[in-house]
Amino acid sequence: MTRVIGLTGGIGSGKSTVSQCLAELGAVIIDADKVGHEAFNPGTQAWHEVVNTFGRQVIAPGGEIDRKKLGEIVFNNPESLARLNKIMHPRMYEMMGKMIEEYRRQGVDVVVMEAAVLLEANWTPLVDEVWVTVTSEEAVLERLNRQRGLAREQTLSRIRSQLSSDERARHADVVINNDGDLDEMRARVKELWDGLQR
Ligand code: ADP
Repeated sequence: MTRVIGLTGGIGSGKSTVSQCLAELGAVIIDADKVGHEAFNPGTQAWHEVVNTFGRQVIAPGGEIDRKKLGEIVFNNPESLARLNKIMHPRMYEMMGKMIEEYRRQGVDVVVMEAAVLLEANWTPLVDEVWVTVTSEEAVLERLNRQRGLAREQTLSRIRSQLSSDERARHADVVINNDGDLDEMRARVKELWDGLQR
């Protein structure tokens, strides 16, 4: 029987790194970000709703939704962001639900759905377990500064705009503490993976 794990966590907490590790162990990954981008292709229902809501200014030269432009519109504008989420989240729920259905049909053992907004978007009915990556603020600030060149204030304002780690951990079946080095993270993920195989 297919097990579906919802993997979430704050910015820079290690979601992508953990999900890559799980992929190497044999999991099939659904990346919610990519699904969101697909929903912006011309002709989709989300495309029409976004254009109706935000105007033709959000159409890129190629016809798809200009995510950068849309980002500028909803940035620091909670009301616009809420309207966008109200369009996107149910569409993405539906798309990911279909993907999971198909993987179940194929008999895939473990599906990992990596989604930063898993809890906020109420996507948990799609998954059997919620795994949360938790990393101390200091480690996140340091990693994102060193590896992505993000200024501390930039990262901090993103962290502040998201759910707190405590809040996420409250909804978690599994917490993956990622304060240690990559080897420690891999060992923890391997341990969880072995637990799934039992
Ligand atoms: P998220 O997907 O949650 O935003 P990432 O997996 O992209 O987080 O991790 C953020 C950054 O921290 C990446 O550059 C990644 O390579 C690095 N990173 C993740 N886990 C560790 C770790 N245990 N030790 C050192 N760097 C890490």
